Amino acid sequence: MVKAVVGANWGDEGKGKITDMLARQADIIIRFQGGANAGHTIVNDYGKFALHTLPSGVFYGHTTSVIGNGVALNIPVLMNEIKSITDRDVPMPKILVSDRAQIVMPYHILLDQYEEERLGGKSFGSTKSGIAPFYSDKYAKIGFQVSELFEEELLKEKVVRVCEQKNVMLEHMYHKPLIDPKELLATLHEYKEMISPFVCDVSLFLHKAMKEGKTILLEGQLGTLKDTDHGIYPMVTSSSTLAAYGAIGAGIPPYEIREIITVCKAYSSAVGAGAFVSEIFGEEADELRKRGGDGGEYGATTGRPRRMGWFDCVASKYGCRLQGTTDVAFTVLDVLGYLDEIPICVGYEIDGEVTTDFPVASKLSKAKPVLKKFPGWKCEIRGIRKYEDLPENCRKYIEFIEGQIGYPITMVSNGPGRNDIIYRNSSLK
Ligand code: GDP
Repeated sequence: MVKAVVGANWGDEGKGKITDMLARQADIIIRFQGGANAGHTIVNDYGKFALHTLPSGVFYGHTTSVIGNGVALNIPVLMNEIKSITDRDVPMPKILVSDRAQIVMPYHILLDQYEEERLGGKSFGSTKSGIAPFYSDKYAKIGFQVSELFEEELLKEKVVRVCEQKNVMLEHMYHKPLIDPKELLATLHEYKEMISPFVCDVSLFLHKAMKEGKTILLEGQLGTLKDTDHGIYPMVTSSSTLAAYGAIGAGIPPYEIREIITVCKAYSSAVGAGAFVSEIFGEEADELRKRGGDGGEYGATTGRPRRMGWFDCVASKYGCRLQGTTDVAFTVLDVLGYLDEIPICVGYEIDGEVTTDFPVASKLSKAKPVLKKFPGWKCEIRGIRKYEDLPENCRKYIEFIEGQIGYPITMVSNGPGRNDIIYRNSSLK
């Protein structure tokens, strides 16, 4: 049984918490795309952690954590992350890294920085983790697969070849120091030492696991609106954030993914540039940012303050549709308890016409939000475990949103902890 946990929006919806929670009943948790450019925040018995590369199942003794072939693997970052959790008394997790995963090279990170510098005010707001140069090289077929670390002759030859190309760019385009192939080779030897205990034929491992009836979770990073194809191009990430890509980025048949749990936050937030129709500003935004998430809405990787906005039914309906949602997990609802009235974005007005269908990115900059206000519930809802015990206005808020997006909200998260969850029977399911 394979389930995917993915985001409907710009990321930071609370996927880490939902994955950590579902991992209790899972055997294998897989990261299948993206790299260390975004983070998941997890609160559990060991404390509060920000994970960037490791799947959110690493805190359980019974799970295997897998880095799939679709991931942008930064080997030193992975090593540091393992150390950062084991230093805080989390038992060493069982980790497998796909022999087909490709490696984020030191020059990917530099090129990401140099390109953002070059673009100046027109930059993409990259996290400078090397993700765009990494995926560009992967598809240009000059990336390094983990398996290649173990083929010395091939590696030597390829390092020289790739350095030739990168050095032309570094010298003539960016006017920066060149790469020494010998140094790069030495770095790759270090990487090989670090990663070799974890390397595995992941798709074969998963094939066997599925035959044995194991429960597998695919953990997505970011959300639909950051997907390279279906997101707000070009303000997207460089890999697919959709559940469908889980099949490719882990190496399993697409029909094995039976449940797609799409995580939607009860309000919106985004990092980086790009259209954000329901965005709010000033004091209203500051207040929500301060109260949001668990200790404020600031990037788990970058610490950047997130952009804030009201719940966006147009973007979320689209986000859920592209994921192929079977269940919606509606998160961080507890945070909204301070508001007298809660606006919800129910449509976009573009050139005088209102639509509820999310348009292509080039039209988005013209879209104005159509807001509908809901009365708040003005109380603390943390600790509530039964749906019926939620205040009426809170249930109305959930049910209205469910009706607008058209996918069943079967989980409501009302706090950052593993047990802060309310299961709900939806009439849509
Ligand atoms: P992810 O990237 O989708 O995993 O999301 P992040 O981890 O970046 O952001 C979610 C933040 O909200 C984290 O700080 C979580 O601990 C926190 N969080 C998750 N669910 C809830 C919830 O229901 N209530 C509150 N207050 N915080 C939550």
